[in-house]
Amino acid sequence: MSFAFKEEYALKLDSEDELNSLRNEFIFPKHNGKDVIYFTGNSLGLQPKSASAAIKQELDDWGKYGVEGHFEAKNPWYAYHEMFARPLAKIVGAKEAEVVAMNGLTTNLHLMMVSFYRPKGKRYKILCEAKAFPSDQYALESQVRFHGYDPNDAIIEIAPREGEHLINEEDIYTAIKKHKDEIALVMIGGVNYYTGQLFDMKGITQAGHDVGAQVGWDLAHAAGNVPLQLHDWNVDFACWCSYKYLNSGPGSVSGAFVHERHCKNPDLIRFAGWWGHNKKTRFLMEKGFDPIPTAESWQLSNAPVLAMAVHKVSLDIFERVGIKKLRQKSEKLTAYLEFVIQKVSEESQGGFEVITPKNPDERGCQLSILAHGYGRPLFDKLTKAGVIADWREPNVIRIAPVPLYNSFADCYYFGIKLKQAIV
Ligand SMILES: *Cc1c(COP(=O)(O)O)cnc(C)c1O
Repeated sequence: MSFAFKEEYALKLDSEDELNSLRNEFIFPKHNGKDVIYFTGNSLGLQPKSASAAIKQELDDWGKYGVEGHFEAKNPWYAYHEMFARPLAKIVGAKEAEVVAMNGLTTNLHLMMVSFYRPKGKRYKILCEAKAFPSDQYALESQVRFHGYDPNDAIIEIAPREGEHLINEEDIYTAIKKHKDEIALVMIGGVNYYTGQLFDMKGITQAGHDVGAQVGWDLAHAAGNVPLQLHDWNVDFACWCSYKYLNSGPGSVSGAFVHERHCKNPDLIRFAGWWGHNKKTRFLMEKGFDPIPTAESWQLSNAPVLAMAVHKVSLDIFERVGIKKLRQKSEKLTAYLEFVIQKVSEESQGGFEVITPKNPDERGCQLSILAHGYGRPLFDKLTKAGVIADWREPNVIRIAPVPLYNSFADCYYFGIKLKQAIV
């Protein structure tokens, strides 16, 4: 693709973009009375305008019906979570019975590891990426300790090679083979939160299975960002949050995938609660857990309906648009932003290096920029100029042009503001 770093060119791309009007369905924070350039949908997605009415609906039904709302509400609370099976299944490439919306992400990682990290004999190690998102590191570390192992011994971390920023996938395959009798679980972030690197989940899942390990993915930065085929890839489990690319609001409900071959296995160990129990006999309140033969059997509690109300309106938008169209726009939008950064970098003697993979098949929408010779003041200038981006010490700027609500003009104006910030 050949692009131009010109305002009328960016505006033309926007006018040709059939998803451009979706932007009007979201609320942008303001800077000097104008929409900010919001490039942090990888951290907290923007609020859909329909969110408050959706929450109000539940509040009104609560007021109107009290406890009867479980069955009488417009969207009965008793079965509220069931509305998410269909849209979530499409987003992660699963069967409806394989997905469930519940809890928070780290909670779900733990619940999944209860079932899928079952160390035994020599096979007790977990393979993950080095510098995983801190919460994932703590979860892995504490799981390993819970089973009586030393994290320094039981956790195998794959790091980028000396002098490189990205993980060479060959090193993952080599480590899996090298430790073939020792690995109980492979657990990696599908898209790395720091570099934006997208891993070959199909290939790595296969490699893990080939040596007899279970394979799970943290999809916090992948769900709603890149196409996924969890069922076909034969993934054992996956978890994601809904407040990043899925725009469901701060701390909103997480999602989990469990492959159907595990869902249907009642003997698989689960930490159980009443919402995972057979729906027909749930209210008999009897002894003996009878797991629903779907991912719902990992649910513990009844659903947090107020947070889920926003999840619903957000997923409705995904249903309407579809991941395929979003991905098409996303590849072009990110390529254009990459081009813009390249142009600005040329003017600053190569000051900006995009460390995210160049190949669109190896990334989602996020670009991570290493700002050579610049520090925090550069980022502060951008913020003052109305750009919301993310800064990681010592000098990485993460920006995510989100196809649902970002425009080519956003990318162009970002370039202009970056240029102004370096003089
Ligand atoms: C955002 C993110 C989290 C956050 O965990 P919560 O339990 O939702 O607070 C965890 N892991 C990864 C990889 C993330 O990107």
